[in-house]
Amino acid sequence: MGYLFAYMRNKTDFRVAAFLFVSTIMAACLSGCSQQKYSVSFDAMNTFMTITGYGRKSEAAVKKAQTRIYEIEELLSTTKEGSDIFRINEKAGETRETSVQAETAGLLAFARDMAFSSEGAFNPCLYSITKAWGFTTGQYTVPDSLLIQELLPGTDYTKLKVDSHDGECWVGTIPGMMLDLGAVGKGYAGDQAIKVLKENGITSALLDLGGNIQVLGTKTDGTEWNVGIRNPWDSTVCAGLKIADSAVVTSGGYERFFTADDGRKYIHIIDGTTGCPVESGLAAVTIVCESGLHADALSTAMFVKGLDGAAEYWRLHRDFEMIVITDGQDLYYTEGLEGRLSVIYSFSNVFVIR
Ligand code: AMP
Ligand code: MG
Repeated sequence: MGYLFAYMRNKTDFRVAAFLFVSTIMAACLSGCSQQKYSVSFDAMNTFMTITGYGRKSEAAVKKAQTRIYEIEELLSTTKEGSDIFRINEKAGETRETSVQAETAGLLAFARDMAFSSEGAFNPCLYSITKAWGFTTGQYTVPDSLLIQELLPGTDYTKLKVDSHDGECWVGTIPGMMLDLGAVGKGYAGDQAIKVLKENGITSALLDLGGNIQVLGTKTDGTEWNVGIRNPWDSTVCAGLKIADSAVVTSGGYERFFTADDGRKYIHIIDGTTGCPVESGLAAVTIVCESGLHADALSTAMFVKGLDGAAEYWRLHRDFEMIVITDGQDLYYTEGLEGRLSVIYSFSNVFVIR
């Protein structure tokens, strides 16, 4: 049977993605899945999502999981007026505290911890910078370096405070600080959707949240899911990965970028130390671990760190697995994926990180 595709991130990829996805699911069913299943596809969090649950109770469970994702979007969206993040960013000129829901506070505390743990490679305070480059609107531009210098002090994640007092949760920001949970929102939504599915009696499900693949359990025949990793240079599958109860999350420069008048390509992942799109020598990083939230944060952080920094971080933590594809067409993967990863594309070199 074909691969599930771990790479459809935006609406432009969506028709091909939907076709491939539906074909894959159909193939699964033709090959003997007599169980009931329910699948729903929808737009949320600026991307295209599909949730497929198996079993008798799948329709009700999948619908509840979809509703849960909409709820999370309402909390975390940078553009929906009234969302917690929107309200924090609205008055970015001031030093102040904003009252937020406990769920937002919890996620921001996680994001701040990840920022410290990755030494700023992951930084939830870069929204003013992504805005200046036009990644929030699609009106791309190379901002004046003076503007970047003015914005950088507001991106200091060490000044982000998350607190609770007077019976409420509060987020403290400094002047110019604007928050963006775009690098973890879909991973968090995936974890929450899986929680809802489990609570509603589902033991086998597949989620494609804009290219973040998360699976609950195994396929209904008890075998592992086979997830395809996208070749960053075209839309083919360059490797396959067998997983159960896991998230497979990729960050790649190919997902959103523009080519400026100077002929240079600028991608949507920002190096917080320069305020510019990162140039780490990587084409894509895929993280595999149980939590979608952790995988999503790490995929962005490891992309920013580059190969050596990512390998060093992995050796220190060892609570996730990763596939790193360099601009030079080398593929590196961590030793925990041995026996689970099949490389299809002829990379210049394939190395194991130990
Ligand atoms: P992802 O595709 O998960 O790597 O997330 C990328 C998105 O996260 C971007 O589109 C920005 O909204 C935001 N972002 C960009 N650079 C960073 C960074 N260094 N740390 C955290 N979030 C970032
Ligand atoms: Mg991410």
